[in-house]
Amino acid sequence: MGRVLVLNTGSSSVKYRLVDGDRRRASGMVERIGEPGSAAAGHEEALKVVAAELAAGGFGLDSPELTAIGHRVVHGGTTFTEPTLITEEVVRKIEELVPLAPLHNPANLAGIEVARRLRPDLPQVAVFDTAFHATISPAAATYAIDRETAERLRIRRYGFHGTSHAYVSREAALAVGRPLGNVIVLHLGNGASASAVSAGRCVETSMGMTPLEGLVMGTRSGDLDPAVVLYLGRTGGMSLDEIDTLLNRRSGMFGLCGDNDMRAVQERLAAGDADAELAFSVYCHRLRKYVGAYYAVLGTVDVIAFTGGVGENSPLVRRTALAGLEALGIAVDPARNERGERLISPDGSVVKVAVIPTDEELEIAQQTLAVISRTNRQ
Ligand code: ADP
Repeated sequence: MGRVLVLNTGSSSVKYRLVDGDRRRASGMVERIGEPGSAAAGHEEALKVVAAELAAGGFGLDSPELTAIGHRVVHGGTTFTEPTLITEEVVRKIEELVPLAPLHNPANLAGIEVARRLRPDLPQVAVFDTAFHATISPAAATYAIDRETAERLRIRRYGFHGTSHAYVSREAALAVGRPLGNVIVLHLGNGASASAVSAGRCVETSMGMTPLEGLVMGTRSGDLDPAVVLYLGRTGGMSLDEIDTLLNRRSGMFGLCGDNDMRAVQERLAAGDADAELAFSVYCHRLRKYVGAYYAVLGTVDVIAFTGGVGENSPLVRRTALAGLEALGIAVDPARNERGERLISPDGSVVKVAVIPTDEELEIAQQTLAVISRTNRQ
């Protein structure tokens, strides 16, 4: 047991959670960093706001009871396949990965740098979004493009949302009494990704070199014929930055119907709105395709777990995505699904279907403590 401060430092926000054992002691968020009127002009000020909020709650950042700080870091490349104690060398290697995650890793590094300055005595651990997916095979990780080019530019599939997939796959396997079983995790939030996990090891995941690949998301397209990008440039006259914005910020549910929030999409759907209907059907069709693909990758499936804001809260998405799959042993009990019970499949189903709220901060705290206790034993 120990007390861990978890920091998720983005370019314009810092989310924090103080975790004691498996209990949340304090949490919050500093938003709109650097914007006019924000409490923080930069990451240094943002962490000072976090420190002040913690102190006001009676758990100061200077508390001797704090065991460690755990940082979410988005991209670990192939360098970091496990949570890692932060040293100067680790910071340098995370910097080397900035070209792979130009928006995220610099912000994560800013959080690390300030936190190390504020508490130089405290062990700090980097927990990577990509790490859980490091076990996918070369067959799953490799894009079928020229190998020399791919290797030179580190182009391969990495996968993201790893802490969530790690936590939810483990909880789901435990929930059905099969800790070494096969699990399909559907993490459906603003970003969305699927993973196939066997005996606790990830074997496939839907996000790729960047979080753009895979499922339909709030504002991201997910899978797309790569030639569409060429066409947008050559025939559509769009610049690379414009295409980036189109595919990451103006596509997905937002691009299809103008709403990226699934609650709004469902309300419009209920009112018979045709755009919302198309968006919803594209979303669920893609999801179903991935369930089928990952069933084939795993061979057998013990449990399909829904998580994330949509996965945890939308009975309609869950039942639509899995409808008509009884021949595969997959079914959803309507009443259990509406109530969002932990297990929503009928009794006796071959494949269990579960709703497992994700808890990325708790997972980061636990992985941080595991690194500290491993380091202390060495
Ligand atoms: P993030 O990916 O930013 O962590 P979340 O996992 O919290 O986001 O998911 C946020 C999304 O969850 C919202 O955009 C919304 O579409 C969806 N959501 C939340 N509550 C509901 C609900 N009751 N029904 C359908 N969708 C919901």
